Amino acid sequence: MISEKAYVLLSGGQDSFVCLVWALQQFEDVEAVSIQYGQRHNRELFYAAEVAKHFCVKHTVYDIGDFITAMSDSTLLSSGDHNASHKVAGNLPASFVPNRNGIFLTVISSHAFRNNEKHINLVTGTCETDFSGYPDCRDNYIKAKALELSLGLDRPVTIYTPLMWKNKAETFAMAADAGKFKELIELTLTCYNADETLHKWGRGCGECPSCKLRKRGYEEYVDMAKK
Ligand code: ZN
Repeated sequence: MISEKAYVLLSGGQDSFVCLVWALQQFEDVEAVSIQYGQRHNRELFYAAEVAKHFCVKHTVYDIGDFITAMSDSTLLSSGDHNASHKVAGNLPASFVPNRNGIFLTVISSHAFRNNEKHINLVTGTCETDFSGYPDCRDNYIKAKALELSLGLDRPVTIYTPLMWKNKAETFAMAADAGKFKELIELTLTCYNADETLHKWGRGCGECPSCKLRKRGYEEYVDMAKK
């Protein structure tokens, strides 16, 4: 167990839930930070608050306003088909929000700095294996971001990404191994349409790219658990 505090970016979704569970196992103290940035649906933030409450973790929400919405083309921020290609970068999905991860990590590092952490430990659920190819979810980006924040704050910053090389099935397994499977299913929302219908694989519409990924991951996890 590391005798320092970790700060977890908590979105209300499946991945950040598992990151919080992971951080609680690894660190003596844990705080959660959520960010309101003008997302099309902010129902996820309700679940983030419920998760923090459930684990008795201090939870801070920063409303960073609508500048990301004002400057970005993404179906997470305005209308459009999540399954289409991005308006600007055809190789990326329409849901891509440029620099979102970088901005979030900057915000949470400032929060930790304000608490005068001598060593800033950040935890985020970014994942290279299973996701839509968002460039700011890649391992090399996260490593560069940690260096950038360390230089900008003049103190060591470590960014932990416990899910970087996990697929969705393995993420389900992490929650199950920690005895938090029921909480994962009921207390998280990853659906792009913010549909809260409860299924055995979690809450969602079952049709958007995020639900499809979650549903497939659950089925793979069930198969894996049988073996
Ligand atoms: Zn959905």
